[in-house]
Amino acid sequence: MSATSPKLPKHQKSKALKPGSRRPAKELCSECGLCDTYYIHYVKDACAFLNQQFDRLETQTHGRQRNLEDDEEVYFGVHRQMMAARKIEPIEGAQWTGIVSTIACEMLDRGIVEGVVCVQNTPEDRFGPKPVIARTREEVLAARVNKPTLSPNLSVLEQVEQSGMKRLLVIGVGCQIQALREVEERLGLEKLYVLGTPCVDNVTRAGLQKFLDTTSRSPETVVHYEFMQDFRVHFKHEDGSIEKVPFFGLNTKELKDVFAPSCMSCFDYVNGLADLVVGYMGAPFGWQWIVVRNETGQEMLDIALDQLQTQPVASKGDRHQAVQQSIPAYDKGVTLPMWAAKLMGVVIERIGPTGLEYGRFSIDSHFTRNYLYVKRNYPEKLEQHVPEFAKKIVGQYELPDS
Ligand code: FAD
Ligand code: SF4
Ligand code: SF4
Repeated sequence: MSATSPKLPKHQKSKALKPGSRRPAKELCSECGLCDTYYIHYVKDACAFLNQQFDRLETQTHGRQRNLEDDEEVYFGVHRQMMAARKIEPIEGAQWTGIVSTIACEMLDRGIVEGVVCVQNTPEDRFGPKPVIARTREEVLAARVNKPTLSPNLSVLEQVEQSGMKRLLVIGVGCQIQALREVEERLGLEKLYVLGTPCVDNVTRAGLQKFLDTTSRSPETVVHYEFMQDFRVHFKHEDGSIEKVPFFGLNTKELKDVFAPSCMSCFDYVNGLADLVVGYMGAPFGWQWIVVRNETGQEMLDIALDQLQTQPVASKGDRHQAVQQSIPAYDKGVTLPMWAAKLMGVVIERIGPTGLEYGRFSIDSHFTRNYLYVKRNYPEKLEQHVPEFAKKIVGQYELPDS
């Protein structure tokens, strides 16, 4: 298929921005990488922070918008099915059990795609993001585990077109995938597969250091961390030991400004425009949570199913009170003494929301916080920037007036 065929319109190019220069979204930029390429030409429509257009992009990708009358779709986006799963043989060193890396390796090995956009780390920094187009299983596996920092994954997009590749898998978080969907038709591909992860509370590399320094007993040996369903942050250290710090004991005053402004303004926690999403928060502890959004997502999951143990998703508890109480606590930067935080963590773990209800708890607490952040800092953007599904979620709670 030639680049001038009606399906693949010829596209315009503009000069990419130099690294470190100010981006069109200014301080709201999440460094998704688009502006590092000539696809910056489309930034006004593509940037998740300049022009939120969920409804249109959901229709373009899945054939319809999420149904606002269906509670599961309001929260988790357009989907055909959800499940909990884990690798029968987990990948050593992956973030969870390595379902993302497994699907990517299988797609390469079977010749379904010619390349995989993913993010390895720089030689000098285990958390320093280095986006690549992986062409071998080894290169995909070298990208396993989260780089818990803003990552310019789309900076490699020019290489896709230049390489002449026709079938591509992109792994990425919500803001990257929104921009990708806008320029998808212009990449010269015959088929694009999108494997997303949920994403929230991301930070710049400097912000990550502040978080580690403020929260962990040994910041320099952390190889991996996650905000877990047991209401604790689990830090894994180089020697294999696990350090657990209760959410309620985090130094919220110190950490208030640590999250990037983009992530404090983000409402695409569940990566609504990916074909398949692999996270953990709707699944029992130790399992991963899978959301199949469309036929392409089903095709991707099917190739790894024989390597997975699966079970249906479940939901237990009622999050509403805990979320309502978290709103002023976060707002005022309240930090509990460590003994009280540990006790509260244990109580909430025993009686608190689990499964999909934990997912809703996390979405509600972040959306209410982010809604207040946008309202206070970018009041002129509030109406257009916050998608309808997020307004519906936030509308369940009482928020402070200003
Ligand atoms: P692996 O097989 O280890 O593969 C991880 C993949 O992630 C790699 O292919 C790599 O290319 C990609 N990746 C790593 N860092 C980044 C990055 N910064 N940007 C884009 N892609 C990246 N899940 C939840 O359910 N709830 C959450 O709150 C949540 N928050 C997250 C926050 C961040 C910043 C990230 C990156 C992910 C988050 N996830 C969250 C997803 C979850 O942590 C796992 O990434 C997911 O379950 C896949 O695990 P795995 O073992 O299959 O991945
Ligand atoms: Fe450009 Fe991406 Fe930043 Fe928006 S978020 S300004 S598209 S690099
Ligand atoms: Fe992008 Fe949102 Fe993740 Fe921030 S929280 S990196 S804006 S998807």
